[in-house]
Amino acid sequence: MTMTLTEKIFAKKSGKTRVEPGENVWVNVDVLMTHDVCGPGTIGIFKREIGEDAKVWNPDSIVLIPDHYIFTTDEKSNRNVDILRAFAKEQGIKYFYDVIDDPNGKWRYDASKENITKQYGSRYAGVCHTTIAERGHARPGEVLLGTDSHTCTAGAFNEFATGIGNTDAGFVMATGKILLKTPPTIRFILEKSLNPRVMAKDIILWIIGMIGFDGATYKAMEFGGDGTNWLEMDDRMTIANMAIEAGGKNGIFPFDDKTAKYVSFATARAGTKSEYEPVEQNLSAKVDAEYKIDLSKLEPVVALHPNPGNRRIARECGDIKIDRAYIGSCTGGKVSDFYAFAEVIEGHRVKVPTFGVPATSLVLKELKSTMRGEKSIWNILADAGVTLTENASCAACLGGPEDTFGRMNKPEICISTTNRNFPGRMGHIESKVILASPATVAASAIKGVVTDPRDI
Ligand code: SF4
Repeated sequence: MTMTLTEKIFAKKSGKTRVEPGENVWVNVDVLMTHDVCGPGTIGIFKREIGEDAKVWNPDSIVLIPDHYIFTTDEKSNRNVDILRAFAKEQGIKYFYDVIDDPNGKWRYDASKENITKQYGSRYAGVCHTTIAERGHARPGEVLLGTDSHTCTAGAFNEFATGIGNTDAGFVMATGKILLKTPPTIRFILEKSLNPRVMAKDIILWIIGMIGFDGATYKAMEFGGDGTNWLEMDDRMTIANMAIEAGGKNGIFPFDDKTAKYVSFATARAGTKSEYEPVEQNLSAKVDAEYKIDLSKLEPVVALHPNPGNRRIARECGDIKIDRAYIGSCTGGKVSDFYAFAEVIEGHRVKVPTFGVPATSLVLKELKSTMRGEKSIWNILADAGVTLTENASCAACLGGPEDTFGRMNKPEICISTTNRNFPGRMGHIESKVILASPATVAASAIKGVVTDPRDI
């Protein structure tokens, strides 16, 4: 009997020859990631339960990424970064992407400088899930856990990646192990390729609309078919990122040359471990359900307030007015996202306030150096009237303190490249978020109403 991708990883990492869906197994963890919001809580549990002087199971397997509430005067948020720094020093954790360069310093955001020009040091990275990929912490065949629900993003790299709570993370920190129930799998066979201006975000919004925002609860969402070959790694990350928005335990892609090329570039650039053992996809493995999706038939879609499964065809939403637009986050703040946005916005002006936040410091660099004709991507957006910050972070994706860049402080409607639109997600409890691809967000920003990017 063959196994799914997730079952193969569970079997390998638990020392078994095979596992069955529903089976509880102790799994060996390769990487544990935490950030400024959950890191201090995780560290507190680790110390309380294991001991004040306890040592982590392997300092090189722990990745600390401040990214959520960074560019804010909120003192508690600033202090969280200091707690991560102290812990990294105490435990000898080298993969700590600190906001400042001074290992003995304290992070304090300077509000007297506008939140436009960068305020971070040379090691700062930005949004955790994008950083995990860029800095070579996502490797095929491995198990990556993170104290963040969108840790599933790394499933793009043919690994098992999922979010866990602080208590579990405290245990993993000490032992490198976790008890997991093997999730049953739903398989999505992607066929053919997307038409111009239809993006990976449209694929995953389509799927969540089809199965519902709880349609994959505690299931592995496995992608396969010829259509996956056509998808770039950024596309696969966008899709895997939103597995949790359908309740999925994880999202996972097959391994191919594109995966190998990305991982070898990222690990070489960052100096992280470059050896790995991918798992091979077997489409005859038994799954709970299988869906076939013809990518050539998809069109731009949005997910209206109040959940990511509330799918509508973009062209049928022309009477829905928006107050603002936003491009950023682990889902929609990558270089390819900004490039798609620039393709639509070039030569136009935005009609509503529009905010842009690169996911990471590396994305920022590329946006400034990647040219489209005579102009950089960065300048194309700036010239179209988009307010951009160099301070790569989660920013307004989950609201944050009131002074967060791009935060919705009024009950307005925002169309956004982010991944979640439950009430109050981007700030004010009565604000509404419409989820869309970067191309659709750009087109809508130009028109001031939800707009299909093919109509620009
Ligand atoms: S960008 Fe948004 S979804 Fe991604 S990790 Fe940050 S807050 Fe979470």
